[in-house]
Amino acid sequence: MATLKKILSMLRRQYGPPVLPPAKGPFELVLWENACYLLPDGRRQEVFEGLRKQVGLTPQAILAADRDVLLFWAIRGGMRPEVRVFRWLEIARICRDQFGGDLDRILSQTYAEAKKALKQFPNIGGPGAEKILMFCGAAPGLPLESNALRVLTRVGYGRDHLRNYGQTYKSVQDAIASEIPRDPANTAEAHLLLRQHGKEVCRNNGPLCHQCSISALCNYPAKTR
Ligand code: SF4
Repeated sequence: MATLKKILSMLRRQYGPPVLPPAKGPFELVLWENACYLLPDGRRQEVFEGLRKQVGLTPQAILAADRDVLLFWAIRGGMRPEVRVFRWLEIARICRDQFGGDLDRILSQTYAEAKKALKQFPNIGGPGAEKILMFCGAAPGLPLESNALRVLTRVGYGRDHLRNYGQTYKSVQDAIASEIPRDPANTAEAHLLLRQHGKEVCRNNGPLCHQCSISALCNYPAKTR
């Protein structure tokens, strides 16, 4: 079977180095996750940078912001903008009231404590918390989202337990455990490359195997032929 290192190097050749989120640190990354809903990454970036420029990306600045300005950017972020404004304010309130306005302090906690802290914020579940900690260089492993998980199961890591996402996730994590990058920058790159490949080529329905740079390492097409 292919090694993860080889897969990642081939994907890097296919897509180039992935673009990291512009958000830095846990507070900005929580806002990044909440910047928009069901819209492409380009729009997420527009909303996030709009907030940075016109409001400021601190709890104090968000709580003091003109609500019309927040609503303007929330509308750019897609459906149910009022809910988005409420969430941005809630994020700022939680950070102010529970973390003294400085969410960076969770980075000195244990991984489990930091995850628990992040899960208090709107729209941040376990996988989201792991991803945020990964971008902060504080994740011990390689968090995977659903697109990445699909790529890895198709090339032969772990087992696809069909209706049980949790079991599939664990089996893939067990299978890659000895191969995951140790350096935080490489970990983030691996996460993003696998996600991009799953979204653009190794799609859930109708993977574009003829456009796939790792097809020589994957026996999924032969299995499904
Ligand atoms: S060959 Fe097809 S199934 Fe295998 S990784 Fe590439 S796109 Fe996915």
